[in-house]
Amino acid sequence: MSGDMLQGKSFTTTRVDKLVNWARKNSLWPMPFGTACCGIELMATLASRFDLARFGAEAIRFTPRQCDLMIVAGRVAIKELPILKRIWDQMPEPKWCISMGACACSGGVFDTYTLVQGVDRFIPVDVYIPGCPPRPEAVIDAVIKIQKMIETESWEQHKAENIERLRKEKIYQGPNFPWETR
Ligand code: SF4
Repeated sequence: MSGDMLQGKSFTTTRVDKLVNWARKNSLWPMPFGTACCGIELMATLASRFDLARFGAEAIRFTPRQCDLMIVAGRVAIKELPILKRIWDQMPEPKWCISMGACACSGGVFDTYTLVQGVDRFIPVDVYIPGCPPRPEAVIDAVIKIQKMIETESWEQHKAENIERLRKEKIYQGPNFPWETR
């Protein structure tokens, strides 16, 4: 296009991955894995008072193939773990994960052999929300943090081998699980 043709017209330039990231970050579709009281707080975050729709992340879906943001809200029993893992595996790339509340992050007060002591031992967590339960504002803050992460991502990071490496780095590699030491 010659300079003459552009004269008097307004235009903007960008990179394709910037544009794609902008679209992604403003249209997150969460997969709620709500198992306990934190799930109720997550519902409050979505309702009119806190209105997660303002951040483009209100389209909750209950089918993993349509979701790109896993939110683990509540304690996870060891028996529930295979379900969580299967849902996570069925979500297409790129995908992100928020661990909401003390129970999801570390087992919380339930230091028992029946409960997973932190979901990050099994699925890679991008953002942790402390609290019991966390306030809806904290959930919104976590979503904004995920959006900031998406903003800075590049095509390179979505190559299969990179995804695998990053996922492994994010999964807790501790020596033992609590139930193995009892
Ligand atoms: S962190 Fe607190 S509010 Fe959330 S699931 Fe655990 S006990 Fe319930």
